[in-house]
Amino acid sequence: MRIQRVRGIPDWLGADAARLRLLEEQGIGLARQYGYQEVVLPVLEPKELFVRSIGTHTDIVGKEMYCFEDRGGEAICLRPEGTAGAVRAFLQAGLHRGGTQRWCYVGPMFRRERPQKGRLRQFTQFGCECFGLASPAADVELLALAWRYLDALGVAARVRLLLNSLGCSVCRPPYRERLVAFLEARRERLCADCQARITRNPMRVLDCKNASCQAELQSAPHMLDMLCDACRAHFAEVRAGLEALGIAYRVDPKIVRGLDYYTRTAFEFVAEGLGAQATVLAGGRYDGLVKALGGPDVPAVGFAAGLERLALLLDEAPLAAPDAVVIALGEEMLAPSLKVAEALRREGFFVVHAGGGGAKRQFREADRQGARWAVIVGEDEWKRGLVRVKDLQTGTQHELDLEEACKLLRTD
Ligand SMILES: [Zn+2]
Ligand SMILES: [Zn+2]
Repeated sequence: MRIQRVRGIPDWLGADAARLRLLEEQGIGLARQYGYQEVVLPVLEPKELFVRSIGTHTDIVGKEMYCFEDRGGEAICLRPEGTAGAVRAFLQAGLHRGGTQRWCYVGPMFRRERPQKGRLRQFTQFGCECFGLASPAADVELLALAWRYLDALGVAARVRLLLNSLGCSVCRPPYRERLVAFLEARRERLCADCQARITRNPMRVLDCKNASCQAELQSAPHMLDMLCDACRAHFAEVRAGLEALGIAYRVDPKIVRGLDYYTRTAFEFVAEGLGAQATVLAGGRYDGLVKALGGPDVPAVGFAAGLERLALLLDEAPLAAPDAVVIALGEEMLAPSLKVAEALRREGFFVVHAGGGGAKRQFREADRQGARWAVIVGEDEWKRGLVRVKDLQTGTQHELDLEEACKLLRTD
């Protein structure tokens, strides 16, 4: 029996791999323009980091993390998300004593969820985190960056920005109390998951995907109606900023993150046509997390995008074809042909060597590669310092030295 890949963890080959790489490069490139510096953070982290940041009562920590004890007896995890590790690194480097830090990163995350379209057990996230700015300007800038990213990928028209405010430690506790009372009164009519959430994580009930639960929640109290003055002002400024930048959004009180350290701005970019797994980019403010992980009070705001889900929205892009395929006629010409290929690459061309052997097979290879030109190295021409360049579209051939060959390849 051949060994198969782990369920829910796909291979990315050819054009799919190219698409994923494009999503990564576009993200990091754009983030740099906004002053976000790339960081490369560990895939393995202490389990305790996620227990303390995400919490044991969540699905992620409760049942989805890949954890193991290493030989030193330490509890280690494959990271299920990027923010907790970023905060750990931020504190470990002592950067909370300095000014603002803007970070971006890209890399694999791991969650043992039930695999389905757009939901994988290993997935790639592009994320941005901004530490040290409490101003709504930071929220707006981050949203602008997220929007520009989706726009640059050509998917902005199929994506909608949903915005909410989750309040703060002043206004959320009284809201939470009112929400719990509302939910308790309907406990029997909510699904089993929601019943369990009433005490553990009541705000998460609001985004239950169950239609019967949603019907019960029609008249549920909303955080937005109970914001304190400071949170209300912050939310108004975020909205004004988005409007000034011409970024369309919809206020949606059902956007919740459900963890105590999330404060004020919460947002999701939701795509049409992806079914239940529609959120392609999500984030918000998490002013309480740095402190929850043992640091001082440092405000922070961030987002993460799931690249495999975003890739589902992109059109299939053909792989780039080489400019030329180099063909060696006869064993003797193998070394010279490798030299020719190297010389062309040094001139900046994308060149594939056909591997020598039979001429027929090598020309077939040139066709399969979709190359425009074949550069043929044969003994007669080579003795005169020349190669034969064949236009694979028209069939015309020229005997040229390397300099002239480069000129011809460039005319295309
Ligand atoms: Zn508040
Ligand atoms: Zn429910």
